Amino acid sequence: MTIIVLFGPPGSGKGTQAQVLAQKFGFKHVSTGDLFRYNMKNNTPLGQEAKSYMDKGELVPDELTTKMLKDELQRNPDQKGFILDGYPRTTSQAKALDSLLEELLQSGVDITLALSVEDEILVERIKKRSLDSGRADDADENIIRNRIKEYYDKTAIVSEHYKAQNKWVDLEGVGEIDEITQVLSKEIEKVSSL
Ligand code: AMP
Repeated sequence: MTIIVLFGPPGSGKGTQAQVLAQKFGFKHVSTGDLFRYNMKNNTPLGQEAKSYMDKGELVPDELTTKMLKDELQRNPDQKGFILDGYPRTTSQAKALDSLLEELLQSGVDITLALSVEDEILVERIKKRSLDSGRADDADENIIRNRIKEYYDKTAIVSEHYKAQNKWVDLEGVGEIDEITQVLSKEIEKVSSL
């Protein structure tokens, strides 16, 4: 069982890379953003609650998010590995993840791969993505900037949790998609138990 966390600000390419890497390594891709959007689309109570935060570009409270992640892990037993995209986003989520992985899978995070991209490039990428993502939180520059602010206020600090465990690698998130996939793949191969 290999557990990879893809980390980085909104627009850094986590989702794109997670999809390709999951396919390549045969791992399950879990995106908490996608799970929230699925719940919103189906108008579930979880989706209704998450919407009020997502529409403003704020993080959804930890308890709701962690419960949703736990359910998703439990729905997918017997995987070779997981690529987590967009979770954890707070130190409290990182601690919850350690406990959950131990409890459910007798496992832990193998490595956190962090993509770094300059803020103005993030804003431009997300605006461009909004043309076909259909996401309300991609279409409005104020919301985009608030999501980036949330990242610096609450998420960036999660690096300390993984650095203390020697499970953190900083990588350049600007360049050709294929080249970044290759760099990420090399890091996954180093820790993969396959
Ligand atoms: P994403 O698709 O990863 O950009 O996430 C879209 C939105 O979903 C975020 O702006 C948050 O409102 C919410 N979200 C996704 N993952 C998390 C998380 N781990 N913790 C809190 N909120 C989250």
